[in-house]
Amino acid sequence: MPKNRKNGVDIIDLNRKKSLMRSNELDKIALEDMKHKSKVRIGFSEFSKQLYDNTKNKILEELNATEKDWNNHKWQLKNRISDVDEISKYANLTTEEYDNIKKVSEKYRFAITPYYFSLIDFNDPICPIRLQSFPNIKEFEESGELDPMKEEQSNPAGKITRRYPNKLIINVTNACPMYCRHCQRRRLIGNYDRNTSKKDIDESIEFIEKTPTIREVLVTGGDALLLPNNKLEYIFNKLSQINHVEIIRVGTRTLATLPFRIDDELAVLLRKYKVNISTQFNHACEITPEAVRAIDILTDHGILVRNQMVLLHNINDDKYCIQKTNEELQKYRVIPYYLFHPKDIKGTKHFQVDISKGLDIMKHLEGRTSGMCKPTYVYNSPLGLGKVPLVPMENIEHDENGYEFTTWENKTVRKR
Ligand SMILES: *Cc1c(COP(=O)(O)O)cnc(C)c1O
Ligand code: SF4
Repeated sequence: MPKNRKNGVDIIDLNRKKSLMRSNELDKIALEDMKHKSKVRIGFSEFSKQLYDNTKNKILEELNATEKDWNNHKWQLKNRISDVDEISKYANLTTEEYDNIKKVSEKYRFAITPYYFSLIDFNDPICPIRLQSFPNIKEFEESGELDPMKEEQSNPAGKITRRYPNKLIINVTNACPMYCRHCQRRRLIGNYDRNTSKKDIDESIEFIEKTPTIREVLVTGGDALLLPNNKLEYIFNKLSQINHVEIIRVGTRTLATLPFRIDDELAVLLRKYKVNISTQFNHACEITPEAVRAIDILTDHGILVRNQMVLLHNINDDKYCIQKTNEELQKYRVIPYYLFHPKDIKGTKHFQVDISKGLDIMKHLEGRTSGMCKPTYVYNSPLGLGKVPLVPMENIEHDENGYEFTTWENKTVRKR
């Protein structure tokens, strides 16, 4: 009797049969996921392209501008939409919407690049682009704190925030291309855009020079890439001359809000100082051909780009939306980094999500998608005590017989 037979059955045949059954079982799970994921709006669809072209053409016509203007980041900044009457030139607002935006914007200003504005789906009452950029009457809700992180108490010099042993932040500007309504630094937006003074930059760099424990410096804001290249180079150059500074990281949302800021000249500068980039895409519909053009310029120059997403109610607090968004990021070479649990900032209560929901989303991602596109879910603890990873815990039990794990499909396995 040949060796590969057992009870008269061919073992190879049997294994093949079992494998096919398992493969079919996995297909069922994948098909269910694909069905839900296909409902998530992506920036690369024909639908998104039509929305974009439609609003873009209206704006170009209204401002008597050209395609070349549109692709120029300075034109985009100069022509930000920051007044409710400008919005209503391109969108049909109800009287109530109009009044609410007007009322809120008198207290908390807003600004939206024409580019970002053109991604809005005006027929979707919870369009993720609109929710992130339009003032909302719920911002008047009083609960929450202005500075729960006590950033103002972790500021040893200049514009530094230090909460960790070997890394710190320098805030180089309070300006951003678009003021995210969920921003944790809402209190710093103020009424006008202000780059940090040279004196404060120099004082921050001096502090780093005198502090040999610092190996990584995060240059952020606001949006660090709103500084002109010569000012960025001034900072990078000074930092690179400090022996103990090994890494410079830049925080920017321009990839999502002003992708035209990214060009070869900037990429060469970032490459020269081996800068790492952290950015923020919160929804797959922000990953547009324009955004990917910008990502490609950076990654083709060898610059590492990682994404810090914020979990936001009605914008992306859905497991398929988070899955799709991270898969899109992976596809276009942006490495998912963090999924931030939103902080309890005054005026952002309507974006709050329960932690149990975030944990469910993380549990869903396990096994269902590439490990390469799974962010770490974190909560930035109050009082500036640092980020805490939030991990679904119920999958490990420990007793005298060893460990018991729960797999992604909720099967139990033991390890001695
Ligand atoms: C988030 C943060 C950092 C960077 O932390 P990573 O986990 O390395 O991204 C550094 N300093 C402060 C104050 C921070 O809040
Ligand atoms: S880009 Fe960042 S700093 Fe600027 S408003 Fe948005 S979340 Fe805040």
